Amino acid sequence: MSDFSYAVDGDGVATITWDVPGKSMNVMSLSGFAELNLLVEMGLTDADVKGIILTSGKKDFAGGMDLNVIAKMKEDGGDEPAQAVFDGVMVMHGVLRKIERAGMDPKTLKGGKPIVAALPGTALGIGFELPLSCHRIIAADNPKAKIGLPEIMVGIFPGAGGTTRLVRKMGAMMAAPYLLEGKLSDPKSARAGGLIDEVVAPDQLLIRAKEWVLGAKDADLVKPWDEKSYKMPGGAPYHPAGFMTFVGANAMVHGKTMGVYPAAKALLGAVYEGALVPFDTALRIEARHFTSVLLNPSSSAMIRSLFINKEALEKGANRPAVADQTVRKLGIIGAGMMGAGIAYVAANAGIEVVLIDAAQDAADRGRAHSESLLDKGIQRRKVTPEKKAEVLARITATTDYAALSGCDLIVEAVFEDMKVKAEVTARVDAATGPDTVFATNTSTLPISDLAKASARPEQFIGIHFFSPVDKMMLVEIIRGKATGDLAVAKALDFVRQIRKTPIVVNDARFFYANRCIIPYINEGIRMVAEGVEPALIENAAKLVGMPLGPLQLVDETSIDLGVKIAKATRLAMGAAYPDGAVDTVLFAMADQGRLGKKSNAGFYAYDAAGKREGLWDGLEAAYPVAKVQPALTEVQHRLLMAQVLEAVRALEDGVLTDIREGDVGAILGWGFAPWSGGPFSWLDIIGAAQAVEICDGLTATYGARFETPALLREMAEKGQTFYARFADRKAA
Ligand code: NAD
Repeated sequence: MSDFSYAVDGDGVATITWDVPGKSMNVMSLSGFAELNLLVEMGLTDADVKGIILTSGKKDFAGGMDLNVIAKMKEDGGDEPAQAVFDGVMVMHGVLRKIERAGMDPKTLKGGKPIVAALPGTALGIGFELPLSCHRIIAADNPKAKIGLPEIMVGIFPGAGGTTRLVRKMGAMMAAPYLLEGKLSDPKSARAGGLIDEVVAPDQLLIRAKEWVLGAKDADLVKPWDEKSYKMPGGAPYHPAGFMTFVGANAMVHGKTMGVYPAAKALLGAVYEGALVPFDTALRIEARHFTSVLLNPSSSAMIRSLFINKEALEKGANRPAVADQTVRKLGIIGAGMMGAGIAYVAANAGIEVVLIDAAQDAADRGRAHSESLLDKGIQRRKVTPEKKAEVLARITATTDYAALSGCDLIVEAVFEDMKVKAEVTARVDAATGPDTVFATNTSTLPISDLAKASARPEQFIGIHFFSPVDKMMLVEIIRGKATGDLAVAKALDFVRQIRKTPIVVNDARFFYANRCIIPYINEGIRMVAEGVEPALIENAAKLVGMPLGPLQLVDETSIDLGVKIAKATRLAMGAAYPDGAVDTVLFAMADQGRLGKKSNAGFYAYDAAGKREGLWDGLEAAYPVAKVQPALTEVQHRLLMAQVLEAVRALEDGVLTDIREGDVGAILGWGFAPWSGGPFSWLDIIGAAQAVEICDGLTATYGARFETPALLREMAEKGQTFYARFADRKAA
């Protein structure tokens, strides 16, 4: 079966239709590329063909490259993976350049055949690089369609000519948001932004494409960069205006990425160096930078976690084999910050919601949260007034438990208190049928203990959302000791409905995400107590790719929450509690009313409007900075290992059963250095032997919390990686 079909009509217009069999979205494979090459060749050499329309047989044009292809190219290269990848990329350049030149005489630029891309819907990655090589891009007016180059989001960059062509088409400054941030546009915005040429009614797409092909002149086929007089819009690097752009972009990218993302650096290199040379040389330069990115372990790890494994988890890689559990009616108890957020995402996904609180005004406030988010959407033109009315109509705010009748899933988000939660559980049990699954959104209380209040513990589960619910993509599903498969499937199907990414973990203190993030915050605070310069702590974290330093993070999540968690943990652990030194600092901050961002005072100082100004200067008075400061890498190792060792222990303890969930959960849940692909990928990048060496060194200086887990030591001895060792246990 072929990915492309070819037909010529009576007017001599050939149509190449992309329609990969058995897939809902076209993705480009190596064999697909070879096929496309043959069909383009056929159209260009057939004297009866006047021009070519390139379109799709599906509702969208294409989702991009099949990223597994890249791994395959590397593998096929044996001892010379870089050469194999480079050669493979150059073949792609050859095909796209053939489309662009379309058989024209290279000297006179005459005699080519017009090739138009007709996009019915979404066109991403190679699905947009291909149209960029055509002579005209026409898109159907389909507001749901997304057009752009999102490669940077998974750790690579547009490497099939997209980088070189877009910069030459619109200039480096204008191309920056599309290349560096992976900005996507609907067809009308894409037209306004200069990405595409025309937007037409969907039923006119092929008619207009054909009309353009038949009316095209020689000059319409020549790309500006193939003309002798070509000048880069906005100026090339040695032009005064271009100089400003390139210097500025360099600083901006390094400021945002802290230099830890190889793809951002390589992209800048390709753009800058490419801008200094003729087009075909620029493509070779792009291919060299692209190859270096594809061979960088960070890129492979990012692709694996953020693309391949994230998608696998969303598609139910760890879903028990029970019948479909799609949620029809959801009950939420507790309409506070979390309950209100959950109501919004569920109603937005088309689920009917009953939102209960102890008092009617509290329930109404919870519903009003959805209203305000929808209003913001209307302001940004992402939501229509009709859509707002529809979503709000799905949320019933009440105090009456009888309204829960018919709910197949309940999410409890009341106060973090065992007794309050137990009472609510009993009331829900009385108001719902035997098939209803009950989920708690607790962040700290053991699921198996909470389940004791339930009449149906096998139907009791944890569904742990992160705040703010509408923005955070991860949902942690927690299996209690008695939780049955049906409840797990229900939770997974619910997460699929609201289009978030699930991980499923077993019940243990702080589950997975909080278990790893709390030691990170604590290590930062501990360093303050030791006299490590606070700016060194914060910058060390950012320079290793953490989105927030530990002190900023605790300010954001609130210092009193930290105090509450510390007190509860101390109570539960007794003499074994290891974080006394941390508490001294944390409790002193709370005693002074420095509760973090919410009180406009914390480890940072804030202005009256709540804007963060800088580290609080009172910190130094309370915790004098030591004369001798640790090396940057030592601080980074402490901050990373504090998190990573918990992830390894969670795997050893059976809290995590799949390292893919450990990696994806870490990046989406608390922003663990995304360039690394997650904690397990990071350990694989540095190697178990080096990890052991780091841990042994830290243990000798700082104590038992850095002790090497037995699993890691064994892996170092055997020379194993996590992804090889656990490949047979569900991991990719
Ligand atoms: P919140 O204080 O904003 O909201 C709690 C709501 O529950 C309030 O509106 C309260 O009136 C209501 N409530 C209390 N007792 C009730 C009862 N008996 N019946 C009905 N309603 C009752 O708290 P929140 O931040 O939304 O947290 C709720 C739960 O989610 C907690 O278990 C918390 O640990 C967990 N959680 C919080 C976060 C976070 O970042 N805030 C993150 C993940 C999980």
